[in-house]
Amino acid sequence: MLRRILIGLCALCISELSIATPLIMESLGNGIYVHHGIHEDMTEGYKGDICNLSFIVGSKGIAVIDTGGNFKTGQSLHEAIRQVSNLPILYIINTHVHPDHIFGNAAFLKDNAIFVGHAKLPDAMERRRDGYMRLNKQWQGDDFKESEIVKPSLLVKDKLTLDLGDRAILLTAYPTAHTNTDLTVYDKKSSTLWTGDLLFVERTPSIDGDIKGWLAVINELKTNEAEYAIPGHSSSLKDANWKAQLNNEERYLWTLLNDIRNSIKKGEVMEKAMGTAAASERTYWQLFDIVNRRNVNNIYPLLEWE
Ligand SMILES: [Zn+2]
Repeated sequence: MLRRILIGLCALCISELSIATPLIMESLGNGIYVHHGIHEDMTEGYKGDICNLSFIVGSKGIAVIDTGGNFKTGQSLHEAIRQVSNLPILYIINTHVHPDHIFGNAAFLKDNAIFVGHAKLPDAMERRRDGYMRLNKQWQGDDFKESEIVKPSLLVKDKLTLDLGDRAILLTAYPTAHTNTDLTVYDKKSSTLWTGDLLFVERTPSIDGDIKGWLAVINELKTNEAEYAIPGHSSSLKDANWKAQLNNEERYLWTLLNDIRNSIKKGEVMEKAMGTAAASERTYWQLFDIVNRRNVNNIYPLLEWE
């Protein structure tokens, strides 16, 4: 009897220890929930919670879209899901390789969920593993504990449909744009498209792939039938007109591309272009000075060889 009580108490201790503070979610109705991270750069003191993290509840189970920048955030997302539903968590979808979107994956290993991503995601994760682990430990310290790379086993080369019961969700993989691993998720039932970082809202678009490829993907997204979109980062989604937001992003990318091309034509050095390219966009975007400079630094050397 005593042994049973002790075992019971220990189980209680363990379950109490593992309870994380649930993330605050915005309910969009129709079984869709989104957590909005804050707009900050990934640097010293970053807490791993800067993205939109979502889940969709179907009659058979749940799909999670992006898991946050560390195990702790992933666990808090898990806790938020359990406040809404006890259905099995079937799929963990990563919209692309960036560390702020993927390092919560390990918090869902216990669910035996299937991890899903772009066909190029496993390779991209492997190549970036050491750098991401080192930098995130340095930035996040203790907050990064237990975080690890968890690669997808179900890969999307072009399109793939997942069944959540009363709703099917369509995953689409893209050629290199924001990164080389961009994936969107479309839920027909609610006419909602998760764009990952193919659509930036409020926060300055950051380019880690191919600016011209991204502009081509934006043209493709313009024809998408979705009424609503959930970008990779944003504050509230109320009253958001995503096609207008896509136009803003397109305007920034074209301005940046043209300004850098002009700098190169004039023979200006990259350091000068870092301060002047896309300067007309400065008032429209958050984190502009940091991200825009980084973009010029990434793109300028590639455009020199056009
Ligand atoms: Zn990203």
